[in-house]
Amino acid sequence: MKITVIGTGYVGLVSGACLAEMGNDVLCLDLDPEKIRILKEGGIPIHEPGLDAVVARNVEAGRLHFTTDVAEAVRFGTIQFIAVGTPPDEDGSADLQYVLSAARNIGRLMTDYKVVVDKSTVPVGTADKVKAAIAEELAARGLSLEYAVVSNPEFLKEGAAVEDFMRPDRIVVGADDERAVHLMRALYAPFQRNRDKLVVMDVRSAELTKYAANAMLATRISFMNELALLADRMGADIEMVRQGIGSDPRIGYHFLYAGCGYGGSCFPKDVKALIRTARENGQALQVLQAVEDANDVQKMVLVDKIVARFGEDLSGRRFALWGLAFKPNTDDMREAPSRVIIAELFKRGATVTAYDPVAMTEAKRIFGDEPRLAYAEKPMDALEGADALVIVTEWKEFRSPDFERIRSALKQPVIFDGRNLYETELPRSFGIEYSAIGRR
Ligand code: NAD
Repeated sequence: MKITVIGTGYVGLVSGACLAEMGNDVLCLDLDPEKIRILKEGGIPIHEPGLDAVVARNVEAGRLHFTTDVAEAVRFGTIQFIAVGTPPDEDGSADLQYVLSAARNIGRLMTDYKVVVDKSTVPVGTADKVKAAIAEELAARGLSLEYAVVSNPEFLKEGAAVEDFMRPDRIVVGADDERAVHLMRALYAPFQRNRDKLVVMDVRSAELTKYAANAMLATRISFMNELALLADRMGADIEMVRQGIGSDPRIGYHFLYAGCGYGGSCFPKDVKALIRTARENGQALQVLQAVEDANDVQKMVLVDKIVARFGEDLSGRRFALWGLAFKPNTDDMREAPSRVIIAELFKRGATVTAYDPVAMTEAKRIFGDEPRLAYAEKPMDALEGADALVIVTEWKEFRSPDFERIRSALKQPVIFDGRNLYETELPRSFGIEYSAIGRR
């Protein structure tokens, strides 16, 4: 099949590359000329494990192309995936300007049947807006061409995006057009050879499904984070509690880890957008509002512990920070807890030396030449002469450190662990003060 993917970010590039991997001809469009230049020169503008090999293989095979030319992109694919960003607007609602601009471009330039697929996470009712935007453009051209708008939300996880796209748990397709469903079924057939994973539903339910999934996951995290705060006060251990409840199949072990708050490009904005959509429709989502509020509190939990240990005035102190990305295996720092922690440390007069295996380039882009933030080449380099170590992202390489070296490198042997990486006795056996989240 001939497929155009509009937006070549985490979702668009992975989708395009994986669809090409199954033998489709794919053209990826982005308006950012720098991204397309990097891709055309054989580079990858984001960090995503395994993506470089899939992209290289399919470019080499002539199935995957990149362009900034909107007209060429609209002409190319019968299926037009919209995978552009939907960042939060000032009021928390999803900003649809990129989605609708992509839709208008399709309406302005299409000359034959198109299936327009919303892959971006968009509020309920957006497919109607996309349909209307295309209709308006066609009317302005005096044309009445056939097209369908399908909702096909994406559930991939950054850091495991290629694997998730190639082996999805489910493929949600919201459509009210049989021809479009037929096409989507054929498109996704290679991704579901062992069982039917297509969940076909109406468009609005599909749009809501994506928000429901992220809202549920964020709820599990905030729930455990609040219990971890309570465990801290009561002398209980949240990790024991997780194991104790996880054995119940109605609960399960997954996604119940306490930490220093969720971040990323999805949970924070999608929780906000769903709350906003509900409010606009006359309903308060009280549980979800609490999930968001609890997360704001949680992003401060390490700062609170640091202040309790070192006092409110941190001037002259330097903290080593392990992990900048919002989670491991990605360079994405959107809404990352590290950003809040760094800002709060700066506010109290401290400086920071950070290390992250892949997100330091992104951090330099965000923080510019901020003099209070230095970067270390290796995790241990960040520690030399620092007052304490603060762990923010659970990269594998932080899991078994040389505690002896940590103790001798730090001015004060203190670790504030926002990801509960160690059995609490282990760092303590090296004479290190170890403070984690909800651990005894
Ligand atoms: P991103 O910011 O990484 O990429 C979006 C890209 O779209 C950018 O490169 C931008 O230049 C481009 N773009 C914007 N307007 C355009 C236009 N009119 N034409 C062509 N290109 C345009 O975003 P992302 O993380 O890939 O997310 C995309 C969507 O998918 C969002 O709605 C997001 O919520 C959703 N989503 C993201 C993830 C994730 O893990 N990142 C997972 C599931 C769903």
